[in-house]
Amino acid sequence: MPIYEYYCPACGEIFSYFWRSIRAAEVHDPPPCPACQHPQCQRILSQVAVLDGLGGLTPSEQRQKRAREARLASITPREQIERLRSGRKNQGGAA
Ligand SMILES: [Zn+2]
Repeated sequence: MPIYEYYCPACGEIFSYFWRSIRAAEVHDPPPCPACQHPQCQRILSQVAVLDGLGGLTPSEQRQKRAREARLASITPREQIERLRSGRKNQGGAA
């Protein structure tokens, strides 16, 4: 049974998920975040153990580093969110 790891962009949770087969993991949507139920978690690739050659980080340290970077990259400024929200609202009404 393959174990895939996922990262939740909403809350930063990293969790493992057991699939019945590799094919199941490929064709199904990612599982929801166990912490906040966010439906669009990202699969973390290449969980091959690499102990040396990457600054001496263990796989879990590398994972945390990647998660931190992904979280920083996914932060959307509040202004931008507000703009998107109001834009969507305006589209629904008459001009
Ligand atoms: Zn989450």
